[in-house]
Amino acid sequence: MHNETLTPEATLPELQHFRPTTSRASASHPEGTLVDKYGRRITYVRLSITDRCDFRCTYCMAEEMTFLPRSEVMSLEECLRVAGVFVGLGVNKLRITGGEPLVRKEALWLIERLGALPGLDNLVLTTNGSQLERYAGSLRAAGVRRLNISLDSLRADRFKAITRIGDLDKVLRGIAAAGAAGFSRTKLNTVMMRGVNDDEFVDLVRFAMDHELDISFIEEMPLGDIHGRNSVFISSDETLERLGKHFALLPSTESSGGPARYWRIPGSATRVGFISPHSHNFCDTCNRVRITAKGELYPCLGQNDAIQLMPILRDPAAGDAELRQAIMDSMGIKPLGHDFTEQMEAPKVVRFMSMTGG
Ligand code: SAM
Ligand code: SF4
Repeated sequence: MHNETLTPEATLPELQHFRPTTSRASASHPEGTLVDKYGRRITYVRLSITDRCDFRCTYCMAEEMTFLPRSEVMSLEECLRVAGVFVGLGVNKLRITGGEPLVRKEALWLIERLGALPGLDNLVLTTNGSQLERYAGSLRAAGVRRLNISLDSLRADRFKAITRIGDLDKVLRGIAAAGAAGFSRTKLNTVMMRGVNDDEFVDLVRFAMDHELDISFIEEMPLGDIHGRNSVFISSDETLERLGKHFALLPSTESSGGPARYWRIPGSATRVGFISPHSHNFCDTCNRVRITAKGELYPCLGQNDAIQLMPILRDPAAGDAELRQAIMDSMGIKPLGHDFTEQMEAPKVVRFMSMTGG
């Protein structure tokens, strides 16, 4: 039964144009595909394979973090099983993320198997780049199609301050290794922070152009109790305007299947993207759900409702049919959208991004 009641988030100005589909329209979707109650088809899963990380980025984590006990983290076999059931439900794109996915022991074991899953067309990975020098070649051989690499600064001291631990040189070597391994259209992810890295946006775009990379600028989201987010917030529009003084940016209709909106620079292969959860809310075209390392299925990054898959995964009496049913049921709790903008200093979602997976 499709519920046409609008949630409170529907009053968000950006979503006022959006209307849920009627039950007749949703009923036209084939059996066994994932379609939420607003008619959005889910074809993309972000799977966090660990909540641990070798960095402590200030916007993502608290300085002192308590990580999950190993027994509460999905085994790699459980990750593979969940992914397989999603693919059986029509999901064709999977992003491996974390925490830092490449610090998980034997991550390659899983990635190789995911790369061989029939029906999964697009296996991609988000990483901080710290382990890429070692793994880029194996990731490519395992079938990873594209990499997103986080890079908020090109200055070693600042990079260390933002990540609290990270070594910029190691990440730069990782970026080079990705190119040498044959990855193309690698994308840098840069979280925009006023007074922290906004004087480097032009340099970061030039770096992307010089290395034939794409780059996406991200508006910071209030995930986890971290203070001062409002004071460093910069909108995509402001960054676009500032970049526009240095580059002839042309809007593009291209999409990478995610939330970014892209601009092109004439004469360069680089695409400049913006992920703007505050200023250009993209919830009405949301095609994804997230699975945490703990086996929680979050239909929305910005809400607290989740379906627990772990009890099913660890119940010897439950098979893939039960898992499949739980995943299909999650479509009923996928909300219309988030309301991040009102929560910058008082987050409703207390789990850090490293927990949910970016
Ligand atoms: N460790 C990997 C990395 O850093 O790329 C993958 C996980 S990380 C959580 C995924 C992405 O989320 C990164 O690009 C990071 O910059 C971004 N991120 C983390 N916390 C964020 C926040 N509060 N707002 C916006 N983006 C955030
Ligand atoms: Fe780790 Fe990525 Fe979060 Fe930074 S953004 S702390 S690298 S998970």
